[in-house]
Amino acid sequence: MLELSSDWYWEQDENCLFTQATGTSTEQMGVITQQYVGTARWDHGGIPVGDDGSWDKHKAVLKARQPFANFIFKRPNPEGGWSYISVTGKPVFDEQERFQGYRGTARDITEQKRAEEALRQSEARFRSLTRLSSDLYWEQDDHYRFTSFAGTGSERVTNVRGFNFVGKKHWELDYLNMSAVEWSAHMAILDARQPFHDLELCRLDESGKKIWIGVSGEPMFDETGVFKGYRGVGKDISARKQAEERIQYLAHHDGLTALPNRTLFSELLSLAIRQSKRYGHKFAVLFIDLDRFKLINDTLGHDAGDVLLREVSRRLTETLRSSDVMARLGGDEFVVMVHEVGAPQQVEAVARKIMAAVIKPITIQGQECRVTASIGISMYPADADDEQSLMKNADTAMYCAKEEGKNTFRFYTGGMSAHSFERLAMESSLRRAFEREEFHLHYQAKLNRKSGAITGVEVLLRWSHPELGLVSPTQFIPIMEESGLIVPVGRWALGTACAQNVAWQRLGLPPVTVAVNLSARQFFDQNLLQDIADALEESGLAPELLEFELTETMVMKNAERAATVLAAMKKLGVRLTIDDFGIGFASLANLKRFSVDTMKVDRSFIRDLSQDSEDRAITQAIVTMGKSLQLNVVVEGVETEEQMTFLQSGACDEMQGFYFSHPIESDQFAELLRRNAASQLTAISSGRA
Ligand code: C2E
Ligand code: CA
Ligand code: CA
Repeated sequence: MLELSSDWYWEQDENCLFTQATGTSTEQMGVITQQYVGTARWDHGGIPVGDDGSWDKHKAVLKARQPFANFIFKRPNPEGGWSYISVTGKPVFDEQERFQGYRGTARDITEQKRAEEALRQSEARFRSLTRLSSDLYWEQDDHYRFTSFAGTGSERVTNVRGFNFVGKKHWELDYLNMSAVEWSAHMAILDARQPFHDLELCRLDESGKKIWIGVSGEPMFDETGVFKGYRGVGKDISARKQAEERIQYLAHHDGLTALPNRTLFSELLSLAIRQSKRYGHKFAVLFIDLDRFKLINDTLGHDAGDVLLREVSRRLTETLRSSDVMARLGGDEFVVMVHEVGAPQQVEAVARKIMAAVIKPITIQGQECRVTASIGISMYPADADDEQSLMKNADTAMYCAKEEGKNTFRFYTGGMSAHSFERLAMESSLRRAFEREEFHLHYQAKLNRKSGAITGVEVLLRWSHPELGLVSPTQFIPIMEESGLIVPVGRWALGTACAQNVAWQRLGLPPVTVAVNLSARQFFDQNLLQDIADALEESGLAPELLEFELTETMVMKNAERAATVLAAMKKLGVRLTIDDFGIGFASLANLKRFSVDTMKVDRSFIRDLSQDSEDRAITQAIVTMGKSLQLNVVVEGVETEEQMTFLQSGACDEMQGFYFSHPIESDQFAELLRRNAASQLTAISSGRA
């Protein structure tokens, strides 16, 4: 038995000196039995484990002739460490009940001790990690009931009134963002014993503030493979969520008036159409355009214009019912959706109220101003039953109201021409403008954030009308877009831009990328690819020096076709930029698959940087997001030193804006480029670059 067992056997006499010590392991351990005979257990440099490390207690047990079990002491081993020995013994008496000594077994438990110690240390490490980390650690039993929480993160997340997690299942707690369907999808994952990542949960804390938690977990099994529950981590992701919500808000609201913008209005309108279809409701869409706004803007300045727009939006909000939806479409255009109106008289009353609210005088910069509104109305479902036609008809009716002397309203009628007189006049003069070569191009520099070198240039269309002077592209491009005139004009702009870029290179200027804006009509034009190929060939411009700027909404209009066109453009070797990024944010994920090179952050995001620290956080979030998608990130609309300093500390790649250069004539740009290149050279030679 002794040979087989790894234990030792020992005997001691009445003075507790060994008389015997045997066992296989004694030899293996290099313990020479003979050395032990005639010695006591405490004669070999050992130290009892536990208590105070003295042998007194053990000696007292022996003296009292008591049996003992699993008495543990440690002893120096030949390797310079400690061996742990566990001893069990009992007293021996002869027939006359006289004490003879002890006998018993001993066992080397060093390995076991080491494993215990390793476990203890790793647990201590784990505990201190969870204590220090801002995440929280949780466990659930095999019925998905919470059994424990640890980590500082857990305080904020769990110490909330009404939220006693332990013993509860996740779906028994009041989360704001989870529907029954979403929970059952989550439960299916758990029932399949799958790990899950970043489940986002939202609820309110004691002060009524939203807390967002991101939870990940994995199943636990015992040695035999039996499912024991889940464990995982949770993280307070409120800050990120808030930034996201804010971006969503900005993408859906007008920065100036805080009213919903076109994007949100169009979502709400399509929702209203769906619901009205189902319940047979009627509603009206009112297009409102201020009549003398441009005059005020031009004479008193943009700040005055802004004050006026804010005041008008305030008055309109006051005038309308809270169930009505109002949005600012841009410029001085507003739109209102009035629900549950049966008769035109009801809508008429609303239109009159709006006109009355707008016409009240307003004092700006000490001047009393008065504006009026022209309103066009289309009714669902009488005039149209889809979003686009409803908007278009209201727009057409509004133009009629303008033509009929302004400060009035018009209901849409089938006979109304989609092209108002004003528009027709504009259109025909645009057509003539192209023939008379009244269009020319301006060029605006893009600079590398770090070096300040000019790396690119954006081409912007200009129309100098013989009487009106310079007309803004925001005014005439939508009209050219509608009539299709944008296609030939755009083709001309593209060809001119490519030729100009080559001409600059011939002057010995450093190569820059030339960026051409594309509108939807051009983008979906059959001949676009041919036009690009022609422009490249005729000018001899390297394709990688040509870039196109498109907007998200444009691409999303027909994502399928857009994907095909974009792929074909990439094949030509040109670069692609998403312009005005930040509006229509939800489609971000889609952008990835279009192999876009550059993202240009919309100007609105940096406009109020100086006043609004939240805007700073959002700008940073957008730039970071772009970088994480491996995009080249450009920020446009940089007007002040303050904005530039802020951006300089960030991660964007390029900057563009009035601060560096306005859009300028081609020869002015050549001069700018020359000076920029020269200053780059000085910077390099003086070691500043
Ligand atoms: P965009 O593509 O977003 O062009 C940038 C606009 O911002 C330009 O207005 C530019 O002059 C202006 N801008 C540049 N830096 C600053 C700045 O620091 N502060 C401010 N407040 N504005 C700045 P622009 O030239 O009036 O053009 C307006 C829009 O018209 C363009 O917006 C673009 O969508 C369109 N557009 C212009 N040229 C063309 C063209 O050749 N083809 C097409 N399809 N669209 C064009
Ligand atoms: Ca652009
Ligand atoms: Ca832009």
